[in-house]
Amino acid sequence: MKYLYGPVKSRRIGYSLGISLTSYKTCNFDCIYCQLGKTNNKTTERREYIKVSAIVDELKFWLGSKKDITQSLEYITLSGSGEPTLNNKFGELILEIKKLTNLKVAVFTNAAFLSDKEVRRQIAGADLIVPSLDAVTQELFVKIDRPQVGINIEDIINGLIALRREFRGKIWLEVMLVKGVNDDIRHIRKLKKIIASINPDKVQLNSPVRTTAEAGVLAVAKSKLKKIKEILGENVEIF
Ligand code: SF4
Repeated sequence: MKYLYGPVKSRRIGYSLGISLTSYKTCNFDCIYCQLGKTNNKTTERREYIKVSAIVDELKFWLGSKKDITQSLEYITLSGSGEPTLNNKFGELILEIKKLTNLKVAVFTNAAFLSDKEVRRQIAGADLIVPSLDAVTQELFVKIDRPQVGINIEDIINGLIALRREFRGKIWLEVMLVKGVNDDIRHIRKLKKIIASINPDKVQLNSPVRTTAEAGVLAVAKSKLKKIKEILGENVEIF
């Protein structure tokens, strides 16, 4: 399979089949903690990096040949080897998946394009959106996510607020915490206010455990994660 991967079992969303919508590794960020390594194609250009028709053909074949496995799947996830919303036809893919199967569709996104109404229109076909928000100040955002020039954290936050207003499915906000970078309690308190204005269904706290794009990127201690969870309040999980 070229565009499908897994199925993989994760504590966060259960058993899911993944789909890559971009070539490796195409992203508008270059996060210091990225498990895929360094971004070699850092871009904000939205285009059909991988043809939706080619993905659909592969998915049709997979669903037809793996009926037993399909029954135990919980989601088909748009994620993979880069930022899925960079593929400007990702909304079309969601609609095609819905024609092929009753499985729920989840989209993992770094949220950079959610201030764009057209992107929100396309993502509205999903059942679950897992956007990430690692920082609420531009300085920290640049430090941890290393976005393409011109991407602004305020726009991302406003996009997330608009998404919550319009989207009928579930939003699970992911926050990746890196020791000594964005885990300062003053930053966490600012984050709390922003999360309240976004109002996601839940918040998933994460910290790097595998190999990261940059050396020396460290996980936050479990005890501190627990403290941060307490500060952030209800509907917060640690992964
Ligand atoms: S947004 Fe995701 S894919 Fe892109 S660099 Fe960050 S962790 Fe990696």
